[in-house]
Amino acid sequence: MNAALDPTTPRPAAPTTAWELLRADFPILDQRVHGHPLVYLDNAATSQKPRAVLEAIDRYYRSENANVHRGIHELSNRATAAYEGARARVARFLNARSAEEIVFTRGTTEAINLVAHAWGARVRSGDAILLTEMEHHSNLVPWQLLAQRTGANLRYLPVTGDDGGLEVDRLGQLLTPEVKLFAFTHISNTLGTVNPVAELCARARGLGVVTLVDAAQSAGHLELDVQQLGCDFLAFSSHKIGGPTGLGVLYGRRELLEAMPPWQGGGDMIANVEFYASRWNVIPHKFEAGTPHIAGAVGLHAAMDYLDRIGRQRIFQHDQELAARAYEQLAGLAGIRLLGPKTGRAGLVSFHFSDVHAHDVVTVADQFGVALRGGHHCNQPLMRKLGLESTARASFYFYNTAGEVDRLVEVLREIRRFFHVPL
Ligand code: PMP
Repeated sequence: MNAALDPTTPRPAAPTTAWELLRADFPILDQRVHGHPLVYLDNAATSQKPRAVLEAIDRYYRSENANVHRGIHELSNRATAAYEGARARVARFLNARSAEEIVFTRGTTEAINLVAHAWGARVRSGDAILLTEMEHHSNLVPWQLLAQRTGANLRYLPVTGDDGGLEVDRLGQLLTPEVKLFAFTHISNTLGTVNPVAELCARARGLGVVTLVDAAQSAGHLELDVQQLGCDFLAFSSHKIGGPTGLGVLYGRRELLEAMPPWQGGGDMIANVEFYASRWNVIPHKFEAGTPHIAGAVGLHAAMDYLDRIGRQRIFQHDQELAARAYEQLAGLAGIRLLGPKTGRAGLVSFHFSDVHAHDVVTVADQFGVALRGGHHCNQPLMRKLGLESTARASFYFYNTAGEVDRLVEVLREIRRFFHVPL
């Protein structure tokens, strides 16, 4: 067996770069899986959590836990301050005009469903919603449900087969007066394409079309400025940016949020309740029925602080370097098909071997301690368009190293040998 694949091989040498030193902040990374040092390359699915986040959540539950907004006792005040402090921090993270434009949700998926229901209440039969062919199911199915409820139509901006970009030239035909909303992803979780968000928003705004940006894959990887992007809505998930699961963010332009009816009913979202009618609370509380994920918001706050100490532009550059290194080396393997752009890609690479199923690749890679993802990546329509059932995907974050990329390639070579495929 190749020495790099031998489970008795010691951990790679002591950290030498600033990036490698950051790994010490992530206790989970320091372990063996099936006898091999863990190489975690499934960051597009969820990121690992730094000690600062784990400790912030622990501290919250140990010393501040109470319900928010409703009490006048000390702990409730502390919990409320922590929760609303996190909201203000998100507003700064996105450069929103105010914290009132930040709604906490369960995740990107719930944020998009909220818009599809509450903003979607104004959609009528014959209206159109424009999406792109590279949308995650989370930014596709909620609009299908809206179309079914209202008789609206869905349209898709095509993806070009060769470089995985959007056919922006087609916007002239597709952005007609029937279109009420244009929803698209910032970074494709399958192709690694980085879409020109500001340009797409400007095109839509020029025609009075509302925009929603799915920032699930971008929020933790590059700087986002909703005012500069010019979007109306933007959604992301805490768990993909180093924060806890179960929490997400919807940014919405104030005028839109104020005009929208509530989505879910319950505590906190009301100003006054009678037996037969109620009045709603102000934004953003109008959209946050029931007890929220307070500890999640505290953890997200710590995650945003942590990322900004590193610098999101630096993180993006590092992710891109790792993805470019992976892309170049993988392109040298026989029988491999690489998806998405050749250059300028975000920090992930999807690939397909003509003769080894993606699930086999992922299962065997796991035996070598390398965590990948295989499947349709919640992009079934796109995969079908590309003539594929599934791909394997390696996705990187700032705590990944060039050595881990090389190990991925080494393991893939071994897998091909295992399946008796010529190299
Ligand atoms: N959009 C994109 C582009 C994603 O990659 C994901 C997560 N894979 C989502 C939306 C959904 O995020 P969540 O499951 O956290 O709601």
